[in-house]
Amino acid sequence: MYHKVLHPPVSIDSYLPFLSDQFAEELTSLAKELGHLRFVHLNSTETGGGVAEILQSMVPLMNALGIATERIVIDPPSEFFQVTKRIHNLLQGAEGSLSKEELEVYYGSVRQVADDLRRRPVAADVWFFHDPQLLPLAGLLPRTSQEIRIWIGHIDFTTPNPSVLDTLLPLVHDYDRLIFSLPSYVPARLSETPPVSIAPPAIDPLSVKNVALSESAAADITTALGIDPARPLITQVSRFDLWKDPWGVIDAFRLARNHVPGLQLALLGLSQATDDPEALDVLATVSNHAAQDPDIHLYFDASVLTCSIDEVVNAFQVASQVVIQKSTREGFGLTVTEAMWKAKPVIGGDVGGIRIQIDDAVNGYLVSSPEECAQRLVQLLQDPQLRARLGEAARESVRERFLMPRLAFDYLQAAKAHAFSAAETASTPST
Ligand code: UDP
Repeated sequence: MYHKVLHPPVSIDSYLPFLSDQFAEELTSLAKELGHLRFVHLNSTETGGGVAEILQSMVPLMNALGIATERIVIDPPSEFFQVTKRIHNLLQGAEGSLSKEELEVYYGSVRQVADDLRRRPVAADVWFFHDPQLLPLAGLLPRTSQEIRIWIGHIDFTTPNPSVLDTLLPLVHDYDRLIFSLPSYVPARLSETPPVSIAPPAIDPLSVKNVALSESAAADITTALGIDPARPLITQVSRFDLWKDPWGVIDAFRLARNHVPGLQLALLGLSQATDDPEALDVLATVSNHAAQDPDIHLYFDASVLTCSIDEVVNAFQVASQVVIQKSTREGFGLTVTEAMWKAKPVIGGDVGGIRIQIDDAVNGYLVSSPEECAQRLVQLLQDPQLRARLGEAARESVRERFLMPRLAFDYLQAAKAHAFSAAETASTPST
């Protein structure tokens, strides 16, 4: 019911060119303080989606910092993901409530993971449980007084559905600390315990998806996938998901094309997260909306690729004049960071975590409708200097705030807040 995932090792030296000397020193000395602890990260999917993306870099980075860190992915039945997708939607504000049967599937599946972890225990001092899928797990596992349990919520909790919040909120008391992406996501009723940290996600500048790729190499990849390199291209990279508003992107594209003849649109939803059973239904309606327009390219079948999904994502972000992320809810939006790192102007939905990344009209644009999106598209597509200026500001803001070593630092600090009090508890003789 769970398996361990191994990631290739990395050296901390590879990250140093991206860090200031002062930050590199702070990070390595914090890691040294915690070097005696074993960490484990648990999540629900090995690949696909933002959390898997973060963990495949975070786990090797923590090991490179001298902290023995493992990754565990749970293997629940497929109906678990039907329920957790509903929970995800409800926590992001969808209407409705969870049925008794759904709750049974949810708790029953997590209980099976807990049973398996009892049969095949994992030795760790600091546990990071990622996202609502794992929320009931801490309460089902035996614990020693030294263990530190941290739950990390990566989604947009701005307007959670109250019924699902009432159901799930008591579970947080099985954790020593909670981590949210933004201060505004912390549910008001959580003002007391457990303590909360804020840690916005980050990207890995060394990953295949984010390493420097030349424009010509990018064009080779996009051309092989049907894009005309002589005409302008705009892209949204996103799972086919309700909250990513692919229909709005198509509407904005059609409006913009009236002013920018020859414009092409790519919608990339290649890595279907296994916890996202709705993707195929969304894709069907998006495909309908695209109405076989030859300049709207929908990519969803990774089996036709001749290179990796990560290379394709990188290539489309590099080859696009403008990148869109027109989400209507977004916990953070790693795709925004990825494109900004490539010095692209990004037009993002004015929601959630996109707001802390895009400073409107400084390093990108925030929009609230297809019309506004189209207007910004036309402005950017007609003005190469504006694109270059916003793009450079975008890259610099990612370098300063949203690279993986900063997130590792935040996670280590969250652990440190408990590591020493746990050690004190352990050494206090019982009376
Ligand atoms: N992604 C990908 N291929 C795709 C679509 C998305 O590799 O076809 C990646 C994307 O590059 C990003 C992650 O999946 O790293 C999505 O994270 P984000 O925070 O943007 O959204 P989430 O899927 O977690 O809601």
